[in-house]
Amino acid sequence: MRYAVISDIHGNFEALDAVLGDAAACTDVVLCLGDIVGYGADPVACVERIAERAQAITAGNHDHAVAGRLDLDWFNTSARAALVWTRGHLDADHRAYLGALPLVAEVGDAILVHASPDHPEEWDYLVSAEDGFAAFAAFSTRLCLVGHSHLPAAWSVGSSGPEFRAGTFEVEFAAGRRYIVNVGSVGQPRDRDPRAAYGLWDVERGTLTIRRVAYDVERARRKILAAGLPRVLADRLAWGS
Ligand code: ZN
Repeated sequence: MRYAVISDIHGNFEALDAVLGDAAACTDVVLCLGDIVGYGADPVACVERIAERAQAITAGNHDHAVAGRLDLDWFNTSARAALVWTRGHLDADHRAYLGALPLVAEVGDAILVHASPDHPEEWDYLVSAEDGFAAFAAFSTRLCLVGHSHLPAAWSVGSSGPEFRAGTFEVEFAAGRRYIVNVGSVGQPRDRDPRAAYGLWDVERGTLTIRRVAYDVERARRKILAAGLPRVLADRLAWGS
């Protein structure tokens, strides 16, 4: 079994479409770690495509914010402007759908969660080595798949000591070790590589590979500008940061 693990799509349909096209050569099974909307100009198309394609979906903070479950004060100015815009472009059904997404899901020997597995409703970021190592006590499965920071990374613990790696890589799961993997962001990468990122989890091989997919960044940028969303949300797609 292989799973395409996607996160932080953020209303970027060009990036989502490119990632699902890339993944289709390997698997039909898609898992989504949330932040389907926010920032980008195509929230409806992204919600509908993911609702149709993903086998398991967890909520992101932006998803819960447009549904009224998280205060907009939590967000910075441009994120807040995009959430207000997104809320106005989704109908009540779409908002209710996003608001009902669970914080945690379990697939095989992995838990899926948008932010930290430790109190997911607090939306803490796992960025440093220490952030990740401290989160292992909060789950009991072998694997925990996360998003939220938009930075691909892997943490692991086991008898030979803790390990941390950031960047685009392949993790080979070693016997006796447990892992947290951040699969990066489909729709707004922040690691200075503008290509969309997602994870391909191969259960039989015991690997999780971060894949990068080029997409039509310029088209996604133009849609953000045409929608009247903050310019920085368009420009950062080209920078990948
Ligand atoms: Zn996000």
